[in-house]
Amino acid sequence: MVRYKPVFDPVKPLLANIILTTLCLLAAERSGRAENTLDEVLPIRGMCIAAPNPSQVDSFVSFIAQELATRSLNTLILRVDYNYQYTSHPELSNPSGLSSADVKKLVVVCRTNHIRLIPQLNLLGHQSWQRSNGKLLQVYPEFDETPWVKVPERYAWPNPDGLYCRSYCPLHPKVHEVVFSLVDELCDVFETDAFHAGMDEVFYIGESKCPRCGGKDKAELFAKEVTLIRDHLKTKQRRLWIWGDRLLDARLTGMGEWEASSNGTARAIGLIPKDVLICDWHYERADLSPVCFAMNGLGVVSCPWKNPNAALRQLQDMTRFREQATPVMKPRFQGIVQTVWSDAGSFLKDYYGHRNGADYKSGQKDAARCFIELFDAIQSLKREPADELPKR
Ligand SMILES: [Zn+2]
Repeated sequence: MVRYKPVFDPVKPLLANIILTTLCLLAAERSGRAENTLDEVLPIRGMCIAAPNPSQVDSFVSFIAQELATRSLNTLILRVDYNYQYTSHPELSNPSGLSSADVKKLVVVCRTNHIRLIPQLNLLGHQSWQRSNGKLLQVYPEFDETPWVKVPERYAWPNPDGLYCRSYCPLHPKVHEVVFSLVDELCDVFETDAFHAGMDEVFYIGESKCPRCGGKDKAELFAKEVTLIRDHLKTKQRRLWIWGDRLLDARLTGMGEWEASSNGTARAIGLIPKDVLICDWHYERADLSPVCFAMNGLGVVSCPWKNPNAALRQLQDMTRFREQATPVMKPRFQGIVQTVWSDAGSFLKDYYGHRNGADYKSGQKDAARCFIELFDAIQSLKREPADELPKR
């Protein structure tokens, strides 16, 4: 049998290599140019979601690499709270929470895919939910701003005590030693340069019956707490992110007492350090509040949830604000962060359901559908000017 015997020609592989390398360089340049353009149009493209449970970490890591990175997402805020095996204060540790090895898997996949990873622990507010106190107040009940408010037999809103979530007392002399240890531990294990402290929906602050806070100005108390946390992070070159609702005036804006403040904290917008980044959440409308934050010298991202119409308008507004702002204001309009308020497992189920089936939960609003529509529109910014975004 005669077999074909190839004759080695040194020129052919060389040519092929040159062509392949050139094509790769061109593709990389095009892709790099597209990302650069996107960074210019919308610097922060993020998601905020509950940190996965340990059993969900591997599937969440795949989700980050295969779905988030490929959609040009560059910021991931994970709400950790007490879902972590803290060692700095073992009494606040959750033995079935994330281990440092779990977190390192998240750190590696985010770093590999150029995604900024930011942990969140709720400070000040959100220290209870309905009838259950959070871990901090379970272990340290003396930190409670309103210890006289009894746990109701059955929780309902509204209620005579105005109990939405409990707060810790920001003037308790021991509280910061404890919570700052947790903040530092989270920031270290997440290897991050930013930390999200929550600080939304703080209904209890400066209560008249609190022996430390009674009679004090609530805006000043809120601003002082923000400043204290910001200064602590600053010592390690880390930036503070918070939700923006306590800095907006509910009465003047008509936004209601969740999306804005009706308990006297709104003046803090002019009192907090200008390098705090504001996550401005509005779920049913594209309010113009990013302009308010930017005009007060603060960086801001818009945060939608389940409503794609509102999300796409917020995206359109954010890109237009950047186009139209003065050079001083422009860098304050930072981008958009999709919020997810289900657990990570439910979100992944919805996400893959929508991605794989056109009729999955058809007609229902959910965060996964909103995320997909929003990030499809963000991807289109690589190609189209902002005024050609899908009209809603
Ligand atoms: Zn107090």
